[in-house]
Amino acid sequence: MKKIGLIGGMSWESSQVYYKIINEKVREILGGFHSSKCVMESVDFAEIEKLQHIDDWNALNKIMSESAKNLERANADIIILCTNTMHLCSKEITKNINIPFLHIAEATGKKIKEKNIKKVLLLGTKFTMEKDFFKDIIFNDFDIEVIIPNEDDREIIHKVIYEELVHGKIKPESKKKYQRIINDSIKNGAEGVILGCTEIPLLIKDNDVDITTFDTTRIHAESAVEFSLK
Ligand code: GLU
Repeated sequence: MKKIGLIGGMSWESSQVYYKIINEKVREILGGFHSSKCVMESVDFAEIEKLQHIDDWNALNKIMSESAKNLERANADIIILCTNTMHLCSKEITKNINIPFLHIAEATGKKIKEKNIKKVLLLGTKFTMEKDFFKDIIFNDFDIEVIIPNEDDREIIHKVIYEELVHGKIKPESKKKYQRIINDSIKNGAEGVILGCTEIPLLIKDNDVDITTFDTTRIHAESAVEFSLK
């Protein structure tokens, strides 16, 4: 079994879900007493959130690369970064390590392709919805069209993530807002929705909406296990 290196803490509310999923998956596949060989480097999200919102991606690149190098030194065989947003640093991370880096958008694109879906709604932080790093992979590598909510709705999605979900607050009224936004996208032709923030699956489950959901936390964690056991 190969050792999985996780960069976590962004937020820890979803990092703990990663830990649970990878262990459950290893048990499901290998049975008995088996569990995942893994190591997590967990950061202080207060530092990260502050740098994100003043757009200091140089500093963030440095922190993410250092975390990845620490995991390589801890004998990890692969790195996964347990957040969609921070994949903005993926180029800098891969430059600084000699082990594979499993990109969350690539793992997600593969799953969408398997379902033969041609158009998806992308939900996540404003960074993820508005910048190109995630959308480009889905479109260029998998030929899947990506749509995002309008500006007001992006603000709602973003605020719920930073003011509620990363603090572990799951509110029914926020779930309703997300459901409304997802339903609006169906009218615009979306056949699936990427839950492109690792905390969104804490709020939205598959049977809450009428289209296929792509839970990036689960997809990413399970892909890491696949690599680990290959
Ligand atoms: N975990 C979130 C994501 O998947 C948001 C927190 C962060 O900014 O890293 O994008």
